Amino acid sequence: MKRILWFRRDLRVEDNPLLSFGGEVLPIFIFDENILKKLPKNDKRVSFIFYHVVKLKSDLQKMGLNLKIFYGKPEEIFAQFKGFDEVVASGDYDAYAKERDTKISHMLHFRYLNDTYIFKPKEVLKENGEPYLVFTPFYKKARAILAHKNIDTAKIAEHILVQTEYKGIEKKSEIVALTLENLGFVEQNIEIVNAHLKLESFLKRIDAYQQMRDYLSSDATSDLSVDLRFGTLSIRAVLRAIFSLKGADAEPFIRQLIFRDFYAYLLFHIPPLETQNYKYNFNGIEDSEKFRAFCEARTGIPIVDAGVCELLQTGRMHNRVRMVVASSFTKDLLLPWQWGERFFASHLLDFDMASNVLSWQWSAGTGVDPQPYFRVFNPYLQSKKFDKEAHYIKKWLPELTHIAPKLLHDETYLLNSIIPNYPKPIVVHKEAAKRAIVLFKKQG
Ligand SMILES: Cc1cc2nc3c(=O)[nH]c(=O)nc-3n(C[C@H](O)[C@H](O)[C@H](O)COP(=O)(O)OP(=O)(O)OC[C@H]3O[C@@H](n4cnc5c(N)ncnc54)[C@H](O)[C@@H]3O)c2cc1C
Repeated sequence: MKRILWFRRDLRVEDNPLLSFGGEVLPIFIFDENILKKLPKNDKRVSFIFYHVVKLKSDLQKMGLNLKIFYGKPEEIFAQFKGFDEVVASGDYDAYAKERDTKISHMLHFRYLNDTYIFKPKEVLKENGEPYLVFTPFYKKARAILAHKNIDTAKIAEHILVQTEYKGIEKKSEIVALTLENLGFVEQNIEIVNAHLKLESFLKRIDAYQQMRDYLSSDATSDLSVDLRFGTLSIRAVLRAIFSLKGADAEPFIRQLIFRDFYAYLLFHIPPLETQNYKYNFNGIEDSEKFRAFCEARTGIPIVDAGVCELLQTGRMHNRVRMVVASSFTKDLLLPWQWGERFFASHLLDFDMASNVLSWQWSAGTGVDPQPYFRVFNPYLQSKKFDKEAHYIKKWLPELTHIAPKLLHDETYLLNSIIPNYPKPIVVHKEAAKRAIVLFKKQG
């Protein structure tokens, strides 16, 4: 049996089920031209992926394997592989990934592994075989299955992994001199922290997770989303570490991991969710001026602008801020959630189609299991509660450093004051929220 082992969202050797396939194998990674050509030269994700692909190549070398790295369209690269029996890769469920894999499955037998998520897409179903559409019953069923699930480390195949040389591949698609510049990108200054160290450090703080995770300066969350996105840490390794804890209250964290699975599961079972509302016809009002103000962090709503600045500078954004930003975007600015989703998609280091789309639909009130449309976050009350001393706001908006924290949570003050280099709010929250509710009701 000759197999292609296709690394994609699993950029690691530890606990990687791909490596439990022995015999003659060709490990590959493809820098996908279809995706890369749409990205700006300074995309932070490409620097992150590049770093980990180089590391993967070196780690595989220690096992006697040579990762072949390509640049091009996956289907064109696969068309040139001859003499293989199958390709093995972990499942990926967004529309582009499915279309890509379908094309390749017509050329070569495609064996899917479940590595990215805890559960396979059809593992947690209702008694009648249908998918759950509401999180809590999904969580209960998933939790019961997880209690007995095998989450052991993937075994590396016992027989010697043999490097199979491919035949007939055009030289141009294999990257020989591997540099970011050769891929058309400029190296970005991003902090890369070993995922195992992050996990270790988080486990010492896990007891404070539930109480503190929403506070913006608390450092209470794990910061593992980017590692789970690119598979630089195995989800099973995270679960093993959590289950080995004695006496800690890890359930709120496990719940979030299951949330991640739920979103991927929903996208798998209901693919149109990627772009279309599940509930309500109301789709916001297209207003390019408001959208520009949002993208430039000039809405005059401090917590929202601070979040956008954090995102643009680092590729990150705290979960609570993501919720407030998405709510303000869809209910205060009344913009289409799809615009906000695409903006996040272009900048988030941990961008994951399922988590992003479903979270935006949740915030907009249009998704499968959404926040009710009439429950609108007040961004000023949110910042007052979760960033009382405005440390977060001031970190990302230094032009507000000299303003007393309580005034930064006070819409009336912001509407009636002139702050050098900072705009007045472009909407009045109460009026905007009322308008959103009326429009939802009318067009929903
Ligand atoms: C509008 C919006 C867009 C989002 N877009 C993404 C995205 O593109 N990619 C992404 O990974 N997460 C997304 N999230 C979810 C969440 O904000 C991030 O997963 C979280 O902030 C990552 O930080 P952490 O690793 O410290 O999380 P922790 O709180 O430590 O949580 C642990 C892990 O659970 C998962 N998780 C936590 N919260 C959620 C959630 N609400 N939904 C799904 N999974 C969750 C993540 O994998 C995370 O790493 C989005 C949330 C919102 C409101």
